[in-house]
Amino acid sequence: MTPEKSPLTYGELPPEDALALLGNDIRTAILWTLSEARGGEGPPPVLPFSELRRKADLDVESSRFNYHLQELLGTFVERVPPEETDDDAQVVSELASTPGEGFRLRPEGTTLIRTIRTWSDEGDAWLAPFELDQECYHCDTALEAEYDNAIFAIRCPGCEYVYDYNLTPPGVLGDDREETLDNVAAYNRSQRLAFARGTCPLCGNAVDAEFVAGEETGYPRGDLRTLLVRRGCDHCGNKDNLTLGEVLLRDARLVGFCAERGLDVTTTPIWKLPFAATDRHTTIDATDPSKATLAVDCDGDTLTLTVDDSLSVVDRRL
Ligand SMILES: [Zn+2]
Ligand SMILES: [Zn+2]
Repeated sequence: MTPEKSPLTYGELPPEDALALLGNDIRTAILWTLSEARGGEGPPPVLPFSELRRKADLDVESSRFNYHLQELLGTFVERVPPEETDDDAQVVSELASTPGEGFRLRPEGTTLIRTIRTWSDEGDAWLAPFELDQECYHCDTALEAEYDNAIFAIRCPGCEYVYDYNLTPPGVLGDDREETLDNVAAYNRSQRLAFARGTCPLCGNAVDAEFVAGEETGYPRGDLRTLLVRRGCDHCGNKDNLTLGEVLLRDARLVGFCAERGLDVTTTPIWKLPFAATDRHTTIDATDPSKATLAVDCDGDTLTLTVDDSLSVVDRRL
C-alpha cells in the first residue's frame, strides 16, 4: 500500500496515532463529558470551554485541561465557531475558546464512545444455557441458547450442530428469555442481511465473498454442512459466515414466495427457517467457478434459487 493510500481518520491521522491520543485520563474525561452532555438524544451538543471543564470535574489547571483538549481537536473533538451574529465573535482569547465558541465530538469521537457503551452493561451479561422452543432439524433434540463472553450461541446439545455463534452486544439481553430471543433475532438479521447484501454492517465498505465447503468451515459437525459463504471486510476486519439461505433472505422473490404462503421470513427468527438455519436444502452445482442452489419448501411448493460465486441469482424456478 502506498503511503498516500494509507487510511487516515477524518482528522487526518493514521488510525494508530488516533488511538494513541487516548492514552490520557484528562482526554478520555473530555470525550466522556461531551458524550454525556448529549443525554442520548439529538446532535452532539456544543459545550463552551468553561462548561466543558466544569462538567469534566477534574482537579487540573485550566491550561493543562486546555492542552489536552487541543490534542483531541481535529480527531475526536472539533471546535465550533461562534455564530456570525455573535457580537463577541471577534474577541481573541489566549484560552481555548472565544466567547460563543464551543466544542463537540467529531464522528470518530461519537463512534468511539458508542462502541464503549455498546459493550457495557449493568448486569452480569451472561446467560446459562436454556432450551428453545425449536427442535434440531438434524436430530430433533431441543436447541439450547447461551450467552457467554459476548458470544450468543444457539446449539444442539444432541448432535452438536451450531446454529448461531455470533459476537453480540449485551444490549440484546432483555427482561426475560422471550425478549432476549426477539432482540437476538433482530440483531442477527440486521448483521446478516448487511453481509448478505455485500456491505459491512460496521463500516459500510463492500465485503468480499468466498464459498467454503462444509468440512472446511471449522464448525463442529462439518459433515452436516454443505457450504458456508464467508464474507469479510478488508477495511475494519469484520467477518461473518452465512448459509446460502441466509444470503438469499434478501431476495425479493423468496420473501414474496414465502409471504404468499403465510410465512413472513422478514420477522421469523433465522433458526426457525430450516432453509436458512441448515444446509439441508442447499446443493453445490459446480465448483471453480462455484454455483449453488437453494430449495425453499413452503406450503407444498418449492422455489429454487441458484447463485454464482458473485452471489448473483442466476436462476429462479417455481
Ligand atoms: Zn441436533
Ligand atoms: Zn467493515
